[in-house]
Amino acid sequence: MLGLIQDRPLLISSQIEYAGLNHGDVEIVSRSIEGPIHRTNYRNVNLRAKKLAQALGRLGVDFGDRVGTLAWNGYRHLEIYFGVSGMGSVCHTINPRLFPEQIVYIANHAEDKVIFTDLTFIPLLEAIQDQLTETQCFVIMTDEAHMPETSLKNVHCYETLLEAEDGAYVWPDFDEKTASSLCYTSGTTGNPKGVLYAHRSTVLHSYCVCANDGLGVCNSDSILPVVPMFHANAWGIPYAAAMSGAKMVMPGAQMDGKSVYELMEQEGVTLSAGVPTVWLMLLGYVKENGLKFSTMRRTVIGGSAAPRSMIETFINDYGVNVVHAWGMTETSPIGTTGNLLKKHEDLPESEKIDIRLKQGRTVYGVELKIVDDEDNEMPRDGVAFGRLLVRGPWITSGYFKSEGGDVVDANGWFDTGDVGTLDKDGYMQITDRSKDVIKSGGEWISSIDVENEAIGCAGIVEAAVIAIPHPKWDERPLVIAIKEEGHPVTREDVLAHLKNTLAKWQLPDDVVFVDELPHTATGKLLKTKLREQFKDYKLPSA
Ligand code: AMP
Repeated sequence: MLGLIQDRPLLISSQIEYAGLNHGDVEIVSRSIEGPIHRTNYRNVNLRAKKLAQALGRLGVDFGDRVGTLAWNGYRHLEIYFGVSGMGSVCHTINPRLFPEQIVYIANHAEDKVIFTDLTFIPLLEAIQDQLTETQCFVIMTDEAHMPETSLKNVHCYETLLEAEDGAYVWPDFDEKTASSLCYTSGTTGNPKGVLYAHRSTVLHSYCVCANDGLGVCNSDSILPVVPMFHANAWGIPYAAAMSGAKMVMPGAQMDGKSVYELMEQEGVTLSAGVPTVWLMLLGYVKENGLKFSTMRRTVIGGSAAPRSMIETFINDYGVNVVHAWGMTETSPIGTTGNLLKKHEDLPESEKIDIRLKQGRTVYGVELKIVDDEDNEMPRDGVAFGRLLVRGPWITSGYFKSEGGDVVDANGWFDTGDVGTLDKDGYMQITDRSKDVIKSGGEWISSIDVENEAIGCAGIVEAAVIAIPHPKWDERPLVIAIKEEGHPVTREDVLAHLKNTLAKWQLPDDVVFVDELPHTATGKLLKTKLREQFKDYKLPSA
Protein backbone atom coordinates (compact mmCIF):
# COMPACT_ATOMS: atom_id res chain seq x y z
CA MET A 1 0.00 0.00 0.00
CA LEU A 2 1.40 3.42 -0.93
CA GLY A 3 1.08 6.38 1.40
CA LEU A 4 -1.33 9.14 0.58
CA ILE A 5 1.05 12.06 0.52
CA GLN A 6 1.50 14.50 -2.35
CA ASP A 7 4.32 13.60 -4.69
CA ARG A 8 5.66 17.13 -5.24
CA PRO A 9 8.97 16.94 -7.08
CA LEU A 10 12.09 18.14 -5.22
CA LEU A 11 13.25 20.86 -7.61
CA ILE A 12 16.04 23.42 -7.27
CA SER A 13 13.70 26.18 -8.49
CA SER A 14 11.58 25.66 -5.37
CA GLN A 15 14.55 26.76 -3.24
CA ILE A 16 14.96 30.15 -4.90
CA GLU A 17 11.18 30.64 -5.19
CA TYR A 18 10.94 29.99 -1.44
CA ALA A 19 13.82 32.39 -0.69
CA GLY A 20 12.32 35.07 -2.96
CA LEU A 21 8.94 34.84 -1.25
CA ASN A 22 9.98 34.32 2.35
CA HIS A 23 13.42 35.89 2.63
CA GLY A 24 13.10 38.42 -0.15
CA ASP A 25 15.06 41.17 1.63
CA VAL A 26 17.98 39.02 2.71
CA GLU A 27 21.12 40.30 1.05
CA ILE A 28 23.47 38.71 -1.45
CA VAL A 29 26.68 40.73 -1.36
CA SER A 30 29.36 40.29 -4.01
CA ARG A 31 32.77 41.71 -4.68
CA SER A 32 32.12 42.34 -8.35
CA ILE A 33 34.62 41.69 -11.10
CA GLU A 34 34.04 45.24 -12.34
CA GLY A 35 35.25 46.55 -8.96
CA PRO A 36 32.70 47.77 -6.43
CA ILE A 37 30.78 45.76 -3.84
CA HIS A 38 27.40 44.82 -5.27
CA ARG A 39 24.25 44.24 -3.22
CA THR A 40 21.12 42.40 -4.23
CA ASN A 41 18.64 40.14 -2.41
CA TYR A 42 16.75 36.87 -2.83
CA ARG A 43 13.69 38.58 -4.33
CA ASN A 44 15.85 40.01 -7.11
CA VAL A 45 17.88 36.85 -7.61
CA ASN A 46 14.65 34.88 -8.10
CA LEU A 47 13.26 37.48 -10.51
CA ARG A 48 16.48 37.75 -12.49
CA ALA A 49 16.91 33.94 -12.58
CA LYS A 50 13.46 33.82 -14.20
CA LYS A 51 14.45 36.50 -16.70
CA LEU A 52 17.56 34.47 -17.45
CA ALA A 53 15.44 31.38 -18.11
CA GLN A 54 13.32 33.43 -20.52
CA ALA A 55 16.43 34.78 -22.25
CA LEU A 56 17.98 31.34 -22.58
CA GLY A 57 14.76 30.04 -24.11
CA ARG A 58 15.05 32.82 -26.70
CA LEU A 59 18.66 31.81 -27.40
CA GLY A 60 17.43 28.30 -28.21
CA VAL A 61 18.45 26.52 -25.01
CA ASP A 62 16.15 23.56 -24.43
CA PHE A 63 15.29 21.25 -21.57
CA GLY A 64 18.34 19.08 -20.86
CA ASP A 65 20.81 21.27 -22.78
CA ARG A 66 24.07 22.01 -21.04
CA VAL A 67 25.04 25.59 -20.26
CA GLY A 68 28.65 26.23 -19.24
CA THR A 69 29.98 28.82 -16.81
CA LEU A 70 33.50 30.17 -16.31
CA ALA A 71 32.91 32.35 -13.32
CA TRP A 72 33.89 33.31 -9.78
CA ASN A 73 31.54 33.37 -6.83
CA GLY A 74 29.15 36.23 -7.44
CA TYR A 75 25.46 37.11 -7.75
CA ARG A 76 25.25 36.57 -11.51
CA HIS A 77 26.72 33.10 -11.12
CA LEU A 78 24.06 32.44 -8.48
CA GLU A 79 21.33 33.58 -10.87
CA ILE A 80 22.72 31.20 -13.49
CA TYR A 81 22.70 28.32 -10.98
CA PHE A 82 18.98 28.78 -10.36
CA GLY A 83 17.92 30.04 -13.79
CA VAL A 84 19.57 27.26 -15.79
CA SER A 85 18.61 24.38 -13.49
CA GLY A 86 15.20 25.90 -12.79
CA MET A 87 14.22 25.77 -16.47
CA GLY A 88 15.32 22.12 -16.71
CA SER A 89 18.68 22.70 -18.38
CA VAL A 90 21.99 21.63 -16.88
CA CYS A 91 24.36 24.12 -15.28
CA HIS A 92 27.89 23.02 -16.10
CA THR A 93 30.39 24.87 -13.92
CA ILE A 94 33.81 24.77 -15.57
CA ASN A 95 36.91 25.10 -13.41
CA PRO A 96 38.87 27.95 -15.04
CA ARG A 97 42.08 26.78 -13.36
CA LEU A 98 42.20 23.71 -15.58
CA PHE A 99 44.60 23.72 -18.50
CA PRO A 100 43.02 25.23 -21.66
CA GLU A 101 43.12 21.85 -23.43
CA GLN A 102 41.18 20.30 -20.52
CA ILE A 103 38.60 23.09 -20.72
CA VAL A 104 38.20 22.41 -24.43
CA TYR A 105 37.82 18.72 -23.69
CA ILE A 106 35.13 19.11 -21.05
CA ALA A 107 33.14 21.87 -22.79
CA ASN A 108 33.00 19.68 -25.91
CA HIS A 109 32.33 16.52 -23.93
CA ALA A 110 29.51 18.25 -22.05
CA GLU A 111 28.28 19.80 -25.36
CA ASP A 112 27.87 23.21 -23.75
CA LYS A 113 25.48 25.10 -26.01
CA VAL A 114 26.10 28.46 -24.36
CA ILE A 115 29.03 29.50 -22.17
CA PHE A 116 28.70 32.29 -19.61
CA THR A 117 31.92 34.00 -18.67
CA ASP A 118 33.18 36.57 -16.19
CA LEU A 119 35.30 39.35 -17.68
CA THR A 120 38.39 37.59 -16.28
CA PHE A 121 38.14 34.59 -18.60
CA ILE A 122 37.49 36.29 -21.93
CA PRO A 123 41.14 36.00 -23.09
CA LEU A 124 41.07 32.30 -22.20
CA LEU A 125 37.89 31.75 -24.25
CA GLU A 126 39.16 33.85 -27.15
CA ALA A 127 42.19 31.59 -27.40
CA ILE A 128 40.18 28.36 -27.49
CA GLN A 129 36.90 29.39 -29.11
CA ASP A 130 37.74 27.77 -32.46
CA GLN A 131 38.12 24.42 -30.75
CA LEU A 132 34.76 24.65 -28.92
CA THR A 133 32.81 22.64 -31.45
CA GLU A 134 29.47 22.54 -29.60
CA THR A 135 29.18 26.09 -28.32
CA GLN A 136 26.82 28.38 -30.23
CA CYS A 137 27.26 31.59 -28.26
CA PHE A 138 28.95 33.27 -25.30
CA VAL A 139 27.40 35.52 -22.67
CA ILE A 140 29.66 38.00 -20.91
CA MET A 141 28.56 38.46 -17.32
CA THR A 142 28.57 42.26 -17.18
CA ASP A 143 26.59 45.31 -18.30
CA GLU A 144 26.88 47.37 -21.51
CA ALA A 145 29.13 49.93 -19.83
CA HIS A 146 31.74 47.26 -19.09
CA MET A 147 31.47 45.20 -22.30
CA PRO A 148 35.03 44.85 -23.58
CA GLU A 149 36.33 44.68 -27.12
CA THR A 150 36.45 40.97 -27.86
CA SER A 151 37.17 38.62 -30.71
CA LEU A 152 34.62 36.14 -29.30
CA LYS A 153 32.02 35.32 -31.93
CA ASN A 154 28.29 35.34 -31.20
CA VAL A 155 28.64 37.21 -27.99
CA HIS A 156 25.92 38.68 -25.75
CA CYS A 157 25.90 41.01 -22.78
CA TYR A 158 24.31 39.45 -19.67
CA GLU A 159 22.50 42.57 -18.47
CA THR A 160 21.19 43.37 -21.93
CA LEU A 161 19.74 39.88 -22.25
CA LEU A 162 17.97 40.25 -18.89
CA GLU A 163 16.68 43.76 -19.61
CA ALA A 164 14.75 42.41 -22.60
CA GLU A 165 12.69 40.05 -20.39
CA ASP A 166 9.78 40.73 -18.03
CA GLY A 167 10.35 37.91 -15.52
CA ALA A 168 6.71 36.77 -15.83
CA TYR A 169 7.81 33.17 -15.82
CA VAL A 170 6.55 30.28 -13.75
CA TRP A 171 9.17 27.70 -12.84
CA PRO A 172 8.13 24.51 -14.65
CA ASP A 173 7.42 21.24 -12.83
CA PHE A 174 9.23 18.13 -14.07
CA ASP A 175 10.66 14.86 -12.81
CA GLU A 176 12.87 15.43 -9.78
CA LYS A 177 15.39 12.92 -11.15
CA THR A 178 16.14 15.32 -14.04
CA ALA A 179 19.81 16.36 -14.32
CA SER A 180 20.40 19.78 -12.80
CA SER A 181 24.13 20.44 -12.86
CA LEU A 182 27.37 18.96 -14.07
CA CYS A 183 30.83 19.17 -12.59
CA TYR A 184 33.97 17.47 -13.88
CA THR A 185 36.40 15.87 -11.46
CA SER A 186 39.81 17.46 -11.33
CA GLY A 187 41.32 14.44 -13.07
CA THR A 188 44.67 13.71 -11.43
CA THR A 189 44.82 10.76 -13.81
CA GLY A 190 43.36 10.65 -17.32
CA ASN A 191 40.64 12.94 -18.63
CA PRO A 192 38.26 14.69 -16.23
CA LYS A 193 34.97 12.82 -15.77
CA GLY A 194 31.56 14.44 -15.41
CA VAL A 195 29.46 14.04 -12.27
CA LEU A 196 25.85 14.74 -13.18
CA TYR A 197 23.71 15.89 -10.25
CA ALA A 198 19.92 15.65 -10.16
CA HIS A 199 17.33 18.02 -8.68
CA ARG A 200 16.34 15.41 -6.13
CA SER A 201 19.92 14.66 -5.07
CA THR A 202 20.70 18.38 -4.79
CA VAL A 203 17.66 19.16 -2.66
CA LEU A 204 18.26 16.18 -0.36
CA HIS A 205 21.91 17.20 -0.06
CA SER A 206 20.79 20.76 0.79
CA TYR A 207 18.80 19.43 3.76
CA CYS A 208 22.00 17.78 4.94
CA VAL A 209 23.97 21.03 4.55
CA CYS A 210 21.29 22.79 6.63
CA ALA A 211 21.12 20.10 9.31
CA ASN A 212 22.71 21.10 12.59
CA ASP A 213 25.07 18.15 12.49
CA GLY A 214 25.72 18.74 8.78
CA LEU A 215 27.10 22.22 8.12
CA GLY A 216 24.30 23.82 10.14
CA VAL A 217 23.47 26.50 7.55
CA CYS A 218 20.56 28.55 8.90
CA ASN A 219 18.78 31.85 8.60
CA SER A 220 20.94 33.70 11.11
CA ASP A 221 24.08 32.93 9.13
CA SER A 222 25.98 35.25 6.89
CA ILE A 223 27.96 32.84 4.74
CA LEU A 224 31.12 33.46 2.80
CA PRO A 225 31.87 30.45 0.62
CA VAL A 226 35.51 30.78 -0.38
CA VAL A 227 35.14 27.38 -2.01
CA PRO A 228 34.44 28.26 -5.63
CA MET A 229 31.08 27.69 -7.27
CA PHE A 230 32.99 25.70 -9.92
CA HIS A 231 34.10 23.16 -7.31
CA ALA A 232 31.32 20.68 -6.46
CA ASN A 233 28.66 23.41 -6.44
CA ALA A 234 30.49 25.33 -3.70
CA TRP A 235 29.80 22.33 -1.47
CA GLY A 236 26.05 22.85 -1.92
CA ILE A 237 26.07 26.11 0.02
CA PRO A 238 24.25 28.26 -2.57
CA TYR A 239 21.25 25.89 -2.52
CA ALA A 240 21.24 25.46 1.26
CA ALA A 241 21.55 29.22 1.79
CA ALA A 242 18.50 29.86 -0.38
CA MET A 243 16.57 27.13 1.39
CA SER A 244 17.24 28.76 4.75
CA GLY A 245 17.29 32.40 3.65
CA ALA A 246 20.87 32.89 4.84
CA LYS A 247 22.81 35.96 3.73
CA MET A 248 25.47 35.19 1.11
CA VAL A 249 28.76 37.03 0.79
CA MET A 250 30.61 36.29 -2.42
CA PRO A 251 34.34 37.05 -2.70
CA GLY A 252 34.54 37.29 -6.51
CA ALA A 253 38.07 36.91 -7.85
CA GLN A 254 39.83 38.06 -4.69
CA MET A 255 40.54 35.15 -2.38
CA ASP A 256 43.71 36.43 -0.69
CA GLY A 257 43.76 36.70 3.13
CA LYS A 258 43.27 40.48 3.26
CA SER A 259 40.32 40.60 0.86
CA VAL A 260 38.55 37.67 2.49
CA TYR A 261 39.14 39.03 5.99
CA GLU A 262 37.84 42.50 5.13
CA LEU A 263 34.70 41.10 3.57
CA MET A 264 34.13 38.89 6.62
CA GLU A 265 34.33 41.84 8.97
CA GLN A 266 32.29 44.24 6.82
CA GLU A 267 29.46 41.80 6.20
CA GLY A 268 29.21 40.14 9.61
CA VAL A 269 30.18 36.74 8.24
CA THR A 270 29.39 33.93 10.68
CA LEU A 271 30.23 30.88 8.56
CA SER A 272 32.81 30.24 5.90
CA ALA A 273 34.00 27.24 3.91
CA GLY A 274 37.13 26.42 1.97
CA VAL A 275 40.23 24.29 1.48
CA PRO A 276 43.17 24.43 3.94
CA THR A 277 45.33 26.53 1.56
CA VAL A 278 42.83 29.36 1.72
CA TRP A 279 42.73 29.28 5.53
CA LEU A 280 46.53 29.27 5.62
CA MET A 281 46.49 32.60 3.76
CA LEU A 282 43.71 34.02 5.92
CA LEU A 283 45.27 32.99 9.23
CA GLY A 284 48.65 34.30 8.05
CA TYR A 285 47.11 37.71 7.34
CA VAL A 286 45.16 37.83 10.59
CA LYS A 287 48.21 36.84 12.66
CA GLU A 288 50.61 39.24 10.94
CA ASN A 289 48.29 42.15 11.54
CA GLY A 290 47.24 41.26 15.09
CA LEU A 291 43.57 41.01 14.10
CA LYS A 292 40.66 38.89 15.36
CA PHE A 293 37.34 37.71 13.96
CA SER A 294 34.44 39.68 15.38
CA THR A 295 31.52 37.70 13.95
CA MET A 296 32.89 34.39 12.56
CA ARG A 297 31.47 31.49 14.55
CA ARG A 298 32.54 28.51 12.52
CA THR A 299 34.44 27.49 9.46
CA VAL A 300 34.21 24.41 7.31
CA ILE A 301 37.54 22.97 6.21
CA GLY A 302 37.57 20.25 3.56
CA GLY A 303 38.95 19.20 0.21
CA SER A 304 42.23 18.16 1.87
CA ALA A 305 43.06 17.20 5.42
CA ALA A 306 42.97 20.09 7.88
CA PRO A 307 46.28 20.17 9.76
CA ARG A 308 46.13 20.03 13.55
CA SER A 309 47.87 23.39 13.94
CA MET A 310 45.18 25.05 11.80
CA ILE A 311 42.31 23.57 13.81
CA GLU A 312 44.01 24.59 17.06
CA THR A 313 44.66 28.14 15.88
CA PHE A 314 41.05 28.68 14.81
CA ILE A 315 39.61 27.27 18.02
CA ASN A 316 42.14 28.30 20.67
CA ASP A 317 43.40 31.63 19.33
CA TYR A 318 40.31 32.96 17.59
CA GLY A 319 37.31 31.19 19.13
CA VAL A 320 36.14 29.98 15.72
CA ASN A 321 34.67 26.48 15.68
CA VAL A 322 35.99 24.15 12.99
CA VAL A 323 33.89 21.65 11.06
CA HIS A 324 36.32 19.34 9.31
CA ALA A 325 34.44 17.80 6.39
CA TRP A 326 35.21 15.15 3.83
CA GLY A 327 33.63 14.67 0.45
CA MET A 328 34.22 14.43 -3.26
CA THR A 329 32.73 15.85 -6.43
CA GLU A 330 31.13 12.40 -6.70
CA THR A 331 29.40 12.82 -3.31
CA SER A 332 27.72 16.20 -4.00
CA PRO A 333 30.08 16.68 -2.01
CA ILE A 334 29.22 16.25 1.69
CA GLY A 335 30.06 12.75 2.95
CA THR A 336 31.14 13.34 6.55
CA THR A 337 31.22 16.34 8.89
CA GLY A 338 33.36 16.67 11.99
CA ASN A 339 30.96 17.76 14.68
CA LEU A 340 31.54 16.55 18.23
CA LEU A 341 28.97 14.41 19.99
CA LYS A 342 27.23 15.13 23.29
CA LYS A 343 29.45 12.63 25.04
CA HIS A 344 32.57 14.55 24.01
CA GLU A 345 31.56 17.75 25.80
CA ASP A 346 33.65 17.16 28.91
CA LEU A 347 36.76 15.80 27.20
CA PRO A 348 40.03 17.70 27.62
CA GLU A 349 40.59 20.18 24.77
CA SER A 350 43.44 18.19 23.22
CA GLU A 351 41.26 15.08 22.96
CA LYS A 352 38.53 17.13 21.32
CA ILE A 353 41.11 18.24 18.75
CA ASP A 354 42.05 14.57 18.19
CA ILE A 355 38.42 13.94 17.23
CA ARG A 356 38.19 17.06 15.06
CA LEU A 357 41.31 15.94 13.24
CA LYS A 358 39.35 13.01 11.86
CA GLN A 359 37.36 13.77 8.71
CA GLY A 360 34.07 13.57 10.59
CA ARG A 361 31.04 11.35 10.99
CA THR A 362 28.75 10.05 8.33
CA VAL A 363 25.77 12.31 7.98
CA TYR A 364 22.33 10.72 7.73
CA GLY A 365 21.78 9.68 4.13
CA VAL A 366 25.36 8.63 3.46
CA GLU A 367 26.52 5.09 4.20
CA LEU A 368 30.21 4.31 4.52
CA LYS A 369 32.21 1.13 4.90
CA ILE A 370 35.84 0.12 4.64
CA VAL A 371 36.99 -3.05 2.88
CA ASP A 372 40.22 -4.95 2.31
CA ASP A 373 41.71 -5.95 -1.04
CA GLU A 374 39.25 -8.88 -1.30
CA ASP A 375 36.28 -6.58 -0.59
CA ASN A 376 35.74 -8.01 2.90
CA GLU A 377 34.28 -5.45 5.26
CA MET A 378 36.77 -4.38 7.94
CA PRO A 379 36.00 -3.62 11.58
CA ARG A 380 34.81 -0.19 12.71
CA ASP A 381 37.40 0.08 15.44
CA GLY A 382 39.19 3.27 14.44
CA VAL A 383 42.36 1.27 13.82
CA ALA A 384 41.92 -1.06 10.84
CA PHE A 385 42.13 0.81 7.58
CA GLY A 386 40.89 -0.09 4.16
CA ARG A 387 39.36 1.20 0.94
CA LEU A 388 36.52 3.55 1.68
CA LEU A 389 33.22 2.77 -0.07
CA VAL A 390 30.17 5.03 -0.05
CA ARG A 391 26.54 4.97 -1.15
CA GLY A 392 23.51 7.17 -0.75
CA PRO A 393 20.93 9.35 -2.50
CA TRP A 394 23.45 12.07 -3.40
CA ILE A 395 26.33 9.78 -4.41
CA THR A 396 27.14 9.34 -8.11
CA SER A 397 25.87 6.21 -9.86
CA GLY A 398 28.12 6.67 -12.91
CA TYR A 399 29.93 9.34 -14.87
CA PHE A 400 28.42 11.41 -17.69
CA LYS A 401 28.28 9.48 -20.98
CA SER A 402 29.38 6.34 -19.09
CA GLU A 403 33.04 7.39 -18.98
CA GLY A 404 34.97 4.99 -16.78
CA GLY A 405 32.30 2.27 -17.12
CA ASP A 406 30.51 0.86 -14.09
CA VAL A 407 31.66 2.69 -10.99
CA VAL A 408 29.35 1.15 -8.42
CA ASP A 409 29.26 -2.52 -7.40
CA ALA A 410 26.19 -4.76 -7.44
CA ASN A 411 25.03 -3.34 -4.11
CA GLY A 412 25.44 0.27 -5.12
CA TRP A 413 28.76 0.98 -3.37
CA PHE A 414 31.10 3.54 -4.97
CA ASP A 415 34.85 3.15 -4.38
CA THR A 416 36.12 6.57 -3.31
CA GLY A 417 39.79 5.85 -3.98
CA ASP A 418 40.44 6.95 -0.40
CA VAL A 419 41.82 4.74 2.33
CA GLY A 420 40.66 5.28 5.88
CA THR A 421 39.45 4.05 9.26
CA LEU A 422 35.95 4.13 10.73
CA ASP A 423 35.25 4.05 14.45
CA LYS A 424 32.22 2.81 16.36
CA ASP A 425 30.68 6.31 16.46
CA GLY A 426 30.96 6.60 12.68
CA TYR A 427 33.96 8.96 12.66
CA MET A 428 36.02 8.40 9.55
CA GLN A 429 39.67 9.23 9.20
CA ILE A 430 41.36 9.38 5.84
CA THR A 431 44.69 7.66 5.95
CA ASP A 432 45.50 8.33 2.32
CA ARG A 433 44.50 8.20 -1.30
CA SER A 434 44.86 4.55 -2.30
CA LYS A 435 47.46 5.57 -4.89
CA ASP A 436 49.47 7.62 -2.39
CA VAL A 437 50.00 5.26 0.55
CA ILE A 438 53.61 4.24 1.00
CA LYS A 439 54.03 0.48 1.12
CA SER A 440 57.06 -0.19 3.27
CA GLY A 441 58.08 -3.70 4.32
CA GLY A 442 54.50 -4.97 4.29
CA GLU A 443 53.21 -2.00 6.33
CA TRP A 444 51.33 0.99 5.00
CA ILE A 445 52.52 4.49 5.83
CA SER A 446 50.03 7.29 5.38
CA SER A 447 51.58 10.11 3.35
CA ILE A 448 48.95 12.46 4.81
CA ASP A 449 49.98 11.69 8.41
CA VAL A 450 53.60 12.45 7.66
CA GLU A 451 52.65 15.65 5.79
CA ASN A 452 50.54 16.89 8.67
CA GLU A 453 53.34 16.31 11.14
CA ALA A 454 55.90 17.93 8.85
CA ILE A 455 53.75 21.07 8.52
CA GLY A 456 53.80 21.34 12.32
CA CYS A 457 57.61 21.84 12.23
CA ALA A 458 58.68 25.47 12.71
CA GLY A 459 59.68 27.05 9.40
CA ILE A 460 57.75 24.64 7.15
CA VAL A 461 54.97 26.22 5.10
CA GLU A 462 53.81 23.27 3.03
CA ALA A 463 54.93 19.66 2.65
CA ALA A 464 54.20 16.73 0.38
CA VAL A 465 55.22 13.15 1.02
CA ILE A 466 55.65 10.60 -1.75
CA ALA A 467 56.88 7.04 -2.00
CA ILE A 468 60.35 6.48 -3.43
CA PRO A 469 61.28 2.94 -4.52
CA HIS A 470 63.61 1.22 -2.08
CA PRO A 471 65.59 -1.99 -2.71
CA LYS A 472 64.90 -3.43 0.71
CA TRP A 473 61.61 -1.97 1.91
CA ASP A 474 59.85 -1.69 -1.45
CA GLU A 475 58.98 1.97 -0.86
CA ARG A 476 60.09 4.63 1.62
CA PRO A 477 58.73 8.14 2.29
CA LEU A 478 60.37 11.32 1.01
CA VAL A 479 59.32 14.75 2.33
CA ILE A 480 59.30 17.56 -0.22
CA ALA A 481 58.80 20.84 1.63
CA ILE A 482 58.61 24.59 1.22
CA LYS A 483 60.41 26.74 3.82
CA GLU A 484 59.17 29.98 5.27
CA GLU A 485 61.16 32.75 3.53
CA GLY A 486 64.49 33.30 5.29
CA HIS A 487 63.87 30.58 7.89
CA PRO A 488 66.99 28.51 8.76
CA VAL A 489 65.09 25.19 9.15
CA THR A 490 67.13 22.19 7.95
CA ARG A 491 66.53 18.62 6.87
CA GLU A 492 67.77 17.49 10.32
CA ASP A 493 65.30 19.83 12.09
CA VAL A 494 62.39 18.32 10.19
CA LEU A 495 63.50 14.75 10.92
CA ALA A 496 64.02 15.57 14.60
CA HIS A 497 60.55 17.11 14.76
CA LEU A 498 58.97 14.06 13.14
CA LYS A 499 60.69 11.75 15.63
CA ASN A 500 58.43 13.20 18.35
CA THR A 501 55.28 11.73 16.87
CA LEU A 502 56.08 9.12 14.24
CA ALA A 503 57.16 5.55 14.80
CA LYS A 504 60.68 4.77 13.65
CA TRP A 505 59.54 2.79 10.61
CA GLN A 506 57.29 5.66 9.54
CA LEU A 507 60.08 8.26 9.59
CA PRO A 508 60.89 9.65 6.14
CA ASP A 509 64.25 8.68 4.70
CA ASP A 510 64.95 12.17 3.42
CA VAL A 511 63.73 15.76 3.26
CA VAL A 512 64.25 18.03 0.27
CA PHE A 513 63.31 21.70 -0.03
CA VAL A 514 61.67 23.23 -3.10
CA ASP A 515 60.33 26.70 -3.98
CA GLU A 516 56.90 25.48 -4.95
CA LEU A 517 54.74 22.37 -4.99
CA PRO A 518 52.44 21.43 -7.88
CA HIS A 519 48.68 21.57 -7.21
CA THR A 520 45.61 20.42 -9.08
CA ALA A 521 43.09 22.95 -10.30
CA THR A 522 41.20 22.43 -7.04
CA GLY A 523 44.18 23.11 -4.82
CA LYS A 524 45.18 19.56 -3.94
CA LEU A 525 48.78 18.42 -4.07
CA LEU A 526 49.46 16.95 -7.49
CA LYS A 527 51.40 13.89 -6.46
CA THR A 528 51.47 12.34 -9.92
CA LYS A 529 53.57 15.33 -11.01
CA LEU A 530 55.83 15.05 -7.95
CA ARG A 531 56.35 11.34 -8.55
CA GLU A 532 57.34 12.16 -12.12
CA GLN A 533 59.65 14.96 -10.97
CA PHE A 534 61.36 12.75 -8.39
CA LYS A 535 61.34 9.48 -10.32
CA ASP A 536 65.15 9.30 -10.47
CA TYR A 537 65.64 10.42 -6.90
CA LYS A 538 67.99 8.21 -4.88
CA LEU A 539 67.34 7.97 -1.16
CA PRO A 540 70.47 8.17 1.02
CA SER A 541 69.38 4.88 2.63
CA ALA A 542 69.02 2.99 -0.66
P1 AMP B 1 37.38 16.43 -5.30
O1 AMP B 1 36.43 15.57 -6.00
O2 AMP B 1 38.29 17.18 -6.20
O3 AMP B 1 36.70 17.29 -4.28
O4 AMP B 1 38.37 15.48 -4.47
C1 AMP B 1 37.89 14.56 -3.52
C2 AMP B 1 39.03 14.02 -2.72
O5 AMP B 1 39.59 15.03 -1.89
C3 AMP B 1 38.63 12.95 -1.74
O6 AMP B 1 38.48 11.70 -2.36
C4 AMP B 1 39.78 12.99 -0.75
O7 AMP B 1 40.89 12.27 -1.23
C5 AMP B 1 40.12 14.44 -0.72
N1 AMP B 1 39.50 15.08 0.46
C6 AMP B 1 38.36 15.76 0.53
N2 AMP B 1 38.14 16.21 1.78
C7 AMP B 1 39.17 15.78 2.53
C8 AMP B 1 39.53 15.92 3.91
N3 AMP B 1 38.80 16.59 4.78
N4 AMP B 1 40.68 15.31 4.31
C9 AMP B 1 41.45 14.62 3.45
N5 AMP B 1 41.17 14.48 2.15
C10 AMP B 1 40.04 15.05 1.69
